[in-house]
Amino acid sequence: MPLLQGDLARSLEVILVYTGNGKGKTCACVGQAVRALGRDMAVAFGQFMKRDGQAGEQRLLAQWLGPRFLAGGAGFLRREEERPAHRAAALRVLAWARAQLPEVQMLILDETLYALHAGILTREEVEALMDSARAVRRHLVLSGRNAPDWLVREADLVTEMGESKHPWRSGVTAAPGIEF
Ligand code: ATP
Ligand code: MG
Repeated sequence: MPLLQGDLARSLEVILVYTGNGKGKTCACVGQAVRALGRDMAVAFGQFMKRDGQAGEQRLLAQWLGPRFLAGGAGFLRREEERPAHRAAALRVLAWARAQLPEVQMLILDETLYALHAGILTREEVEALMDSARAVRRHLVLSGRNAPDWLVREADLVTEMGESKHPWRSGVTAAPGIEF
Protein backbone atom coordinates (compact mmCIF):
# COMPACT_ATOMS: atom_id res chain seq x y z
CA MET A 1 0.00 0.00 0.00
CA PRO A 2 2.40 2.71 -1.11
CA LEU A 3 1.72 6.24 -0.07
CA LEU A 4 0.12 8.20 -2.88
CA GLN A 5 1.90 11.36 -3.94
CA GLY A 6 0.20 14.22 -2.21
CA ASP A 7 -1.12 12.22 0.74
CA LEU A 8 1.54 13.56 3.05
CA ALA A 9 1.10 17.10 1.83
CA ARG A 10 -2.67 16.80 2.40
CA SER A 11 -2.26 15.59 5.95
CA LEU A 12 -2.68 18.27 8.58
CA GLU A 13 -1.53 16.01 11.38
CA VAL A 14 2.07 17.06 11.54
CA ILE A 15 2.52 16.92 15.31
CA LEU A 16 0.76 14.15 17.21
CA VAL A 17 0.84 13.76 20.99
CA TYR A 18 -0.14 10.70 23.04
CA THR A 19 -0.37 11.60 26.70
CA GLY A 20 -2.40 10.93 29.88
CA ASN A 21 -2.11 8.64 32.89
CA GLY A 22 -3.79 5.63 31.29
CA LYS A 23 -1.86 2.81 29.67
CA GLY A 24 -1.38 2.90 25.92
CA LYS A 25 0.93 5.76 24.96
CA THR A 26 3.95 3.71 23.93
CA CYS A 27 1.67 1.06 22.38
CA ALA A 28 0.04 3.85 20.34
CA CYS A 29 3.47 4.97 19.13
CA VAL A 30 4.32 1.43 18.04
CA GLY A 31 0.93 1.10 16.31
CA GLN A 32 1.50 4.40 14.53
CA ALA A 33 4.89 3.13 13.32
CA VAL A 34 3.32 -0.11 12.02
CA ARG A 35 0.64 1.80 10.14
CA ALA A 36 3.10 4.20 8.54
CA LEU A 37 5.48 1.36 7.60
CA GLY A 38 2.53 -0.38 5.98
CA ARG A 39 2.27 2.66 3.72
CA ASP A 40 5.96 2.38 2.84
CA MET A 41 6.72 5.54 4.77
CA ALA A 42 10.21 5.96 6.16
CA VAL A 43 9.93 5.92 9.96
CA ALA A 44 12.40 6.65 12.75
CA PHE A 45 11.56 5.66 16.32
CA GLY A 46 13.49 6.96 19.32
CA GLN A 47 12.96 6.49 23.02
CA PHE A 48 14.03 8.91 25.71
CA MET A 49 14.53 7.54 29.23
CA LYS A 50 14.15 3.88 28.21
CA ARG A 51 17.30 1.81 28.04
CA ASP A 52 17.85 -0.66 25.24
CA GLY A 53 16.57 -4.09 26.30
CA GLN A 54 14.03 -2.62 28.73
CA ALA A 55 10.84 -3.26 26.75
CA GLY A 56 9.45 -5.82 24.31
CA GLU A 57 8.76 -3.40 21.47
CA GLN A 58 12.45 -2.62 21.16
CA ARG A 59 13.49 -5.94 19.63
CA LEU A 60 11.11 -5.72 16.68
CA LEU A 61 11.58 -1.99 16.15
CA ALA A 62 15.35 -2.57 15.96
CA GLN A 63 14.78 -5.38 13.43
CA TRP A 64 12.46 -3.28 11.30
CA LEU A 65 14.23 0.04 11.52
CA GLY A 66 17.91 -0.76 12.08
CA PRO A 67 19.75 2.52 12.74
CA ARG A 68 16.45 4.37 12.56
CA PHE A 69 15.63 2.95 15.98
CA LEU A 70 17.32 4.21 19.14
CA ALA A 71 16.50 3.45 22.75
CA GLY A 72 19.01 5.83 24.21
CA GLY A 73 17.77 6.54 27.71
CA ALA A 74 19.31 5.79 31.08
CA GLY A 75 16.25 4.17 32.67
CA PHE A 76 14.02 5.57 35.40
CA LEU A 77 15.26 8.75 37.06
CA ARG A 78 15.29 7.72 40.71
CA ARG A 79 17.97 9.87 42.36
CA GLU A 80 19.06 13.45 41.74
CA GLU A 81 22.70 12.43 41.42
CA GLU A 82 21.73 10.40 38.35
CA ARG A 83 20.51 13.53 36.55
CA PRO A 84 23.73 14.37 34.63
CA ALA A 85 23.85 10.86 33.13
CA HIS A 86 20.19 11.17 32.11
CA ARG A 87 20.81 14.56 30.57
CA ALA A 88 23.78 13.23 28.59
CA ALA A 89 21.68 10.30 27.36
CA ALA A 90 18.81 12.62 26.35
CA LEU A 91 21.20 14.85 24.41
CA ARG A 92 22.40 11.83 22.46
CA VAL A 93 18.82 10.87 21.56
CA LEU A 94 18.07 14.49 20.67
CA ALA A 95 21.07 14.73 18.34
CA TRP A 96 20.06 11.45 16.70
CA ALA A 97 16.46 12.72 16.32
CA ARG A 98 17.60 15.96 14.68
CA ALA A 99 19.63 13.97 12.17
CA GLN A 100 16.75 11.56 11.45
CA LEU A 101 14.07 14.17 10.88
CA PRO A 102 14.93 15.20 7.31
CA GLU A 103 15.58 11.55 6.37
CA VAL A 104 12.15 10.13 7.24
CA GLN A 105 8.48 10.92 6.82
CA MET A 106 7.59 10.16 10.43
CA LEU A 107 9.71 10.61 13.54
CA ILE A 108 8.33 9.04 16.69
CA LEU A 109 9.86 10.04 20.02
CA ASP A 110 8.48 7.95 22.84
CA GLU A 111 8.73 9.19 26.46
CA THR A 112 9.65 12.70 25.30
CA LEU A 113 7.16 14.12 27.76
CA TYR A 114 8.50 12.02 30.62
CA ALA A 115 11.94 13.53 29.91
CA LEU A 116 10.44 17.02 29.60
CA HIS A 117 8.48 16.72 32.85
CA ALA A 118 11.57 15.42 34.67
CA GLY A 119 13.59 18.42 33.44
CA ILE A 120 15.86 16.18 31.38
CA LEU A 121 14.75 17.94 28.20
CA THR A 122 13.82 21.60 27.93
CA ARG A 123 10.77 23.22 26.37
CA GLU A 124 13.08 25.04 23.94
CA GLU A 125 14.57 21.75 22.74
CA VAL A 126 11.16 20.17 22.14
CA GLU A 127 9.81 23.30 20.46
CA ALA A 128 12.82 23.46 18.17
CA LEU A 129 12.12 19.88 17.04
CA MET A 130 8.48 20.75 16.43
CA ASP A 131 9.50 23.81 14.39
CA SER A 132 11.86 21.68 12.31
CA ALA A 133 9.15 19.06 11.71
CA ARG A 134 6.80 21.76 10.47
CA ALA A 135 9.47 23.39 8.34
CA VAL A 136 10.26 20.16 6.48
CA ARG A 137 6.71 18.74 6.76
CA ARG A 138 7.54 15.58 8.64
CA HIS A 139 5.14 13.90 11.03
CA LEU A 140 6.40 14.10 14.60
CA VAL A 141 4.85 11.87 17.25
CA LEU A 142 5.57 12.66 20.90
CA SER A 143 4.43 10.61 23.87
CA GLY A 144 4.54 10.46 27.64
CA ARG A 145 2.63 11.59 30.70
CA ASN A 146 2.03 15.20 31.66
CA ALA A 147 1.79 17.03 28.35
CA PRO A 148 2.14 20.71 29.29
CA ASP A 149 -0.53 23.19 28.16
CA TRP A 150 1.81 24.86 25.67
CA LEU A 151 2.38 21.53 23.92
CA VAL A 152 -1.33 20.77 23.72
CA ARG A 153 -1.84 24.23 22.19
CA GLU A 154 0.94 23.82 19.65
CA ALA A 155 0.29 20.20 18.57
CA ASP A 156 -2.18 19.26 15.83
CA LEU A 157 -3.57 16.09 17.38
CA VAL A 158 -3.58 15.25 21.09
CA THR A 159 -4.97 12.04 22.56
CA GLU A 160 -5.15 11.71 26.31
CA MET A 161 -5.23 8.12 27.57
CA GLY A 162 -7.44 8.00 30.63
CA GLU A 163 -7.04 5.34 33.29
CA SER A 164 -10.42 3.75 34.00
CA LYS A 165 -8.90 0.72 35.68
CA HIS A 166 -5.38 -0.68 36.06
CA PRO A 167 -4.33 -3.80 37.98
CA TRP A 168 -1.24 -2.10 39.46
CA ARG A 169 -3.61 -0.27 41.81
CA SER A 170 -4.41 -3.60 43.48
CA GLY A 171 -0.73 -4.49 43.74
CA VAL A 172 -0.25 -6.47 40.51
CA THR A 173 3.28 -5.89 39.22
CA ALA A 174 4.17 -5.01 35.62
CA ALA A 175 4.03 -7.98 33.25
CA PRO A 176 6.35 -8.69 30.28
CA GLY A 177 4.52 -8.41 26.98
CA ILE A 178 1.85 -6.23 28.59
CA GLU A 179 3.64 -3.39 30.35
CA PHE A 180 7.18 -3.77 29.07
P1 ATP B 1 2.29 1.22 27.29
O1 ATP B 1 3.80 1.17 27.26
O2 ATP B 1 1.74 -0.04 27.83
O3 ATP B 1 1.68 1.67 26.02
P2 ATP B 1 2.24 3.86 28.45
O4 ATP B 1 3.33 4.18 27.53
O5 ATP B 1 0.96 4.61 28.32
O6 ATP B 1 1.90 2.32 28.37
P3 ATP B 1 3.95 4.58 30.70
O7 ATP B 1 3.57 5.71 31.56
O8 ATP B 1 5.07 4.79 29.75
O9 ATP B 1 2.67 4.01 29.96
O10 ATP B 1 4.27 3.33 31.65
C1 ATP B 1 4.85 2.12 31.13
C2 ATP B 1 4.07 0.89 31.55
O11 ATP B 1 4.13 0.71 32.96
C3 ATP B 1 2.59 0.94 31.20
O12 ATP B 1 2.22 -0.30 30.60
C4 ATP B 1 1.89 1.18 32.51
O13 ATP B 1 0.61 0.58 32.52
C5 ATP B 1 2.82 0.50 33.47
N1 ATP B 1 2.77 1.08 34.82
C6 ATP B 1 2.67 2.37 35.16
N2 ATP B 1 2.70 2.52 36.50
C7 ATP B 1 2.83 1.26 37.01
C8 ATP B 1 2.94 0.71 38.32
N3 ATP B 1 2.96 1.49 39.40
N4 ATP B 1 3.06 -0.63 38.46
C9 ATP B 1 3.07 -1.44 37.38
N5 ATP B 1 2.99 -0.97 36.11
C10 ATP B 1 2.87 0.35 35.93
MG1 MG C 1 5.28 4.71 27.70
